[in-house]
Order: sequence, then structure tokens, then C-alpha cells
Amino acid sequence: MTNRLELLSAIADVLRNAGSVALCGHIMPDGDSLGSVLALGLALRRMGKRVQLLSPDPLPDQYLNLLPGAAEIQLELQGEWPEVLVALDCSDPERLGRFAPLLNSFNTVVIIDHHAGGIDFGHFYLNDAQSPATGELVYELLRALPADIDAAIALCIYVSINTDTGAFRYGLVRPATHRIIAALMETGIDTGWINRQLYEEQPLVSLQVLSEALKTLTVSSCGRLASMYIARETLNRLNARDEHADGVISYPRTIKGVELAMFFRELADGKWKVSFRSKYFLDVNKLASQFGGGGHYRASGCTVEGKLADVRRQVTEAALAALENEQK
Ligand code: AMP
Ligand code: MN
Ligand code: MN
Repeated sequence: MTNRLELLSAIADVLRNAGSVALCGHIMPDGDSLGSVLALGLALRRMGKRVQLLSPDPLPDQYLNLLPGAAEIQLELQGEWPEVLVALDCSDPERLGRFAPLLNSFNTVVIIDHHAGGIDFGHFYLNDAQSPATGELVYELLRALPADIDAAIALCIYVSINTDTGAFRYGLVRPATHRIIAALMETGIDTGWINRQLYEEQPLVSLQVLSEALKTLTVSSCGRLASMYIARETLNRLNARDEHADGVISYPRTIKGVELAMFFRELADGKWKVSFRSKYFLDVNKLASQFGGGGHYRASGCTVEGKLADVRRQVTEAALAALENEQK
């Protein structure tokens, strides 16, 4: 089934006919995965469905306090086994974390995603790598159901699209994105307030993490690659959780002349999570996939095992080679 409208209508049929549905986002949840799960979840509940809202990892406080229904998101399935699982913003089954082994136990699995090179691991697969956020696809699905988009649902979709587009700055933002945002605003959501919650109410510890990371900033001799890291020890000393390092990667990319920014963060298990962000031309999905990761053309990530010095050397070599090959 290649036609997008047919696919949307087929997924709408599946959801209309289901009595119980589980909705799940990805590990290390972000605004897009959580906003998408909640927008669709709230809409299905209003249609009378029994809905379980799932996340493989705990929610960052910021979203817990902002998104309607976020407190009901569970880390485990409970009670009745849902007929349908909808995976949102997940490019491969591993991104479902603890829920990945359960995939075969649902009658129907639906995937709604926008990652470049995503894997089809369900019965229905809606993937649009040109879409700036899964939230945009959820909006289309709600129109297809059809489901009412009230202010609570609008807030969730607004946060999805806002966070995955860097507050509407990135290249994938298209006229349709702003039309959707306009429709969401018509529900009466206070976008000024939402943006202050997203960008002007950070806990102090996030800035302390940024300050430590900036001390490690290096720029390559060609001036196009900027890199920073943060060790677990430092995060522990600051009493910081992973979520407190989330915004750090956006800083090295802002340097004039830098095309590629990299941020190495040590995970609790000693592996290194690497985030990549490019500005104009570099396909960082391709770069991350060399290390078993993935993402989008301008934002991607992977996890690498080893000592920091080795991991940085290995990844930096690949990054410089990619910059050389794809130079424009
Ligand atoms: P992050 O740097 O964690 O903000 O991730 C940037 C983008 O890359 C997001 O869209 C993630 O979904 C994706 N991504 C990050 N880490 C991985 C990974 N290990 N495998 C696949 N995709 C990833
Ligand atoms: Mn995401
Ligand atoms: Mn996304």
C-alpha cells in the first residue's frame, strides 16, 4: 500500500475497529514521541477506546509537567492485553526498548514515523522522512479518523512539532507545517506560555551541565567540526539526569563555519551516546548508521562502546571523512 491517503485511511480503520490500543514512543523519550503518543491517546480515549499510554523510559520532568495526560504514561503494560500496538517516532524495534520483545504478541502493529532509513517492523507502516515531526503525521491521522482536535490534543501536537523543528527553525519545516500550527492555535492554546515552558524554565542543573560541556569544546583545524563531551562522573557530581544534557548539542553547531557538531555523553552503563547535528549539507543519518545508529539528515545519534579517547578518535575520523566526501 503506497498511497498515503489509503494508508492513513487503513490505519484509521484499524483504530476505529479496535477495542483496546497501546501507544508507545521511543527510549529516551523526547517532545515528539511523547506529544505524538498523548495526542493520539487522548483522541482514541474520547472515541471510547481502552488506551494504554507507554514509554520504555521515564519521562523528563519538563514534559511530565507540560503535556496533558503525561502522568498516565506507564513503563509497563497492565491488565488487558491490547489488540493493537501503535509505535510512534520509532525508527526500529530496538527503539521500543523494554517493549521490543513483546512486538509479536499484538494482533496488529502500526508504525508512524519520520526517520530517514526507518525499518518497517509492523503490519501498517507510515513513514515520511520529509515530515518534520511524527506529530504532523498524527495530525493527519486524526483528520482521517476523524477525531476532534481540542486544546489538550492541540497542545501535544504543538509540542511535538515545535521540539523536533528546533522551534520551527529547521529545513524540513514546510508551508503545511505552519498551516497545521495555525489550526492548532485556533483551539486557543497559549503558544507563548508553551514556548516559555519549553525554553525558559530549565532547571539550573541543565546550565551547569552545559557549562561543564562547554569546557570540553574543541573545533577541528578545518573549522567545520565542533565536538564536546560529558562524563558520567561529571553528571553524577552535579546530580544531573540524562535529560539535563538534552539541549547541549545545539550550542556547538551555532559556531560560525561549523557544519557538524558532535556531543559525547557517557551513559549509566559506561557506553557513549553520540549526538550529531549538521547545518547545511552533511547527511548525519548516514554518519550515525556507520556506528549502528540513525536519525535524520540533520540530526542523528548512535551508541558506541569503549574508552572516551578511542570512541572520540574513531567517530571524529569518520566525521572528518564524511565532511571531506560530502563537501559542498
Ligand atoms: P539525539 O541526538 O538523541 O537527540 O537524537 C537525534 C535523532 O537521532 C533523533 O531523531 C533520534 O531518534 C535519532 N537517534 C538517536 N540515537 C539513535 C540510535 N542509537 N539509533 C537510531 N536513531 C537514533
Ligand atoms: Mn524522537
Ligand atoms: Mn521525531
